[in-house]
Amino acid sequence: MAPLDADRSPAVLAGATSRSGSGPEEGAQPRILVVEDEPGYVEALALGLRVEGFEVLGAGTLADARAALAQFTCDLVLLDVMLPDGSGLDLCRELRATTRTPVIVVSARSQEVDVVVGLELGAADYVTKPYRLRELVARIRSVLRRPGATDASRVAVGDLDIDLEGRSVRRDGVPVVLSRREFDLLALLAEHRGQVITRERCLDALWWGVDLADTRTLDTHVKRLRAKLEDDPAQPQHLITVRGVGFRLDG
Ligand code: CA
Repeated sequence: MAPLDADRSPAVLAGATSRSGSGPEEGAQPRILVVEDEPGYVEALALGLRVEGFEVLGAGTLADARAALAQFTCDLVLLDVMLPDGSGLDLCRELRATTRTPVIVVSARSQEVDVVVGLELGAADYVTKPYRLRELVARIRSVLRRPGATDASRVAVGDLDIDLEGRSVRRDGVPVVLSRREFDLLALLAEHRGQVITRERCLDALWWGVDLADTRTLDTHVKRLRAKLEDDPAQPQHLITVRGVGFRLDG
């Protein structure tokens, strides 16, 4: 096993293959992103967590962590607060705005104010250094057991909560009934939120092999989705048309 080295890229550290957008498979090892810049901690942690049955990715900076999160589906982020390129709390805030991936904040005992801020920002739990591996593993397991915690297949976009695996959508907590293709279209956009998906790709994904599907059919589905998901379908805030190209889901 290669030792975790904070100077190397997360992909190299991971030795992991990219997983698709869905959540952890049954029986799969939970994947933990360890964001930590002290090599002594990182190595001991990676070793200990692997023995406990976790897959471990490492990132020594906020930039590495963002790169790893863009590339890999992680089930939990263990987040040190004091990092060379900024505060882990900023990443915590970003994660809460865009994903449900749970965060455990790691703070130095002298910086307990970070714990308070971290929890206010939506961290699931915290540990203070120095901590025992056994204590950390117990906290990780506890957080992963929480309902929805491991559910990387959920996408929160504004007031929308999209469960890709369960194929359900809630708007402000209220279930929204969608047709199969309406959901497929929303899921395609949600999996690539913030990115433009071309009309061709939408048609391909939704009506593969169906000759009759045309661009008007797609527009009809977009219109129906907006009616169900937008406050003002004429001024959509989530399902955005990118003229001449396709659609984008914003939140
Ligand atoms: Ca640190």
